[in-house]
Amino acid sequence: MTHLALCLWLALAGVPSLAGVALAQGNGRAQSEFPVATDAKLEQSGEIVRLTMALSRPVEVSASVLAGPDRVIIDMPSINFQVQPGTVRKSAGVVGAYRFGLFTADKARIIIDLAQPAVVVRAESRPVRGGFGELVIELRRATRAEFQAAIAASSGRDFQAPATVPVPAKPAGETRQTIVIDPGHGGIDPGAVVASIAEKAVVLAFGVKLKERLEASGRYRVLMTRDDDRFVALAERVGIARAAGADLFISIHADSLTQAQEVRGATIYTGSERATDAEAARLATKENQADAAAGLDASEDTQDVAGILMDLAKRETRTFSAIFARNLVEKLGGSVKMHKVPLRSAGFRVLSAPDVPSVLIELGYMSSPKDAELLNSAPWRAQAVDAVATAVEGYFVSARAPVGKAAENRR
Ligand SMILES: [Zn+2]
Repeated sequence: MTHLALCLWLALAGVPSLAGVALAQGNGRAQSEFPVATDAKLEQSGEIVRLTMALSRPVEVSASVLAGPDRVIIDMPSINFQVQPGTVRKSAGVVGAYRFGLFTADKARIIIDLAQPAVVVRAESRPVRGGFGELVIELRRATRAEFQAAIAASSGRDFQAPATVPVPAKPAGETRQTIVIDPGHGGIDPGAVVASIAEKAVVLAFGVKLKERLEASGRYRVLMTRDDDRFVALAERVGIARAAGADLFISIHADSLTQAQEVRGATIYTGSERATDAEAARLATKENQADAAAGLDASEDTQDVAGILMDLAKRETRTFSAIFARNLVEKLGGSVKMHKVPLRSAGFRVLSAPDVPSVLIELGYMSSPKDAELLNSAPWRAQAVDAVATAVEGYFVSARAPVGKAAENRR
């Protein structure tokens, strides 16, 4: 393990205790009570590709296939995956890549991206001596027709987002502004992964600190779309902001560019149908794939609310989003390195709430060794959190009157 990775794991060890009041509360069970999976192996023998993991006890396993992109989805009860990303072979034969993680509070998932059509010939956890188990998944290359038949056989299964968590509505008489912090990715969807550091962990650590900082002022009611390592669908993130009656929605990410290690710095994005530039469009496309990465059927889109009043509300919301975004560029730019074009927009699904001013902060590029180091350093994080909090304060002071008006339009 690299020094950087070690720092991150140590930093993360402290996260659950810092999380405070949870919005996305689980069923109360700690991850430490889950069966543990270790020792992932992917190997090809003949026409079979086999994925195995050692389990602390056998679990129930079910497999299904899904097209667009072609995937195999393995569902199990909650598992504590003690498999380091980056240490295991990720592709062999029909398997292009695979990932794993918590899907809901009581469900874990392995997603296998297929390089070619394949069918599942075996998916089980068999008991081994000593009460342990072994997870065995075997895939065989198939024709497109066989693959389609397998999809038909597993249709009717639930690929939609997990049940939404009840969101506390704004209490009557609440005078504080409500801010929803949205750490990107989570659970089965790690986001960018560079040298065994996952974006989902970097942005969660940042979000937790930002929540603490904003709450310390006593002026804000702060909720998080997730405060642990779990998957939250994009539409649900937007839904949480709207249900909470949020005055501001802040999504946090840390991208990676495989080709350009020298590209560095933070960028602030707002939502718009038309992207300001090709890089913004590319990033939005990538972030919008989060649901598909978790094995959701992303074909069903968020329903678009129509109507002239909604258009007006949307336009006003965009204006406030832009005001906050400019505030962020100014305040963040005063304390951390910014990208050379720090303010952009593109069609991010997570920024689609028509009535909640929303921005997405790309903290930096995990693909840049310098950025990656900063993203995991506590002093850098404290400085950046401080700058974002100052931008939030400035926004509510300068835009108080129009925000009140936007809030009225919502009612
Ligand atoms: Zn991201």
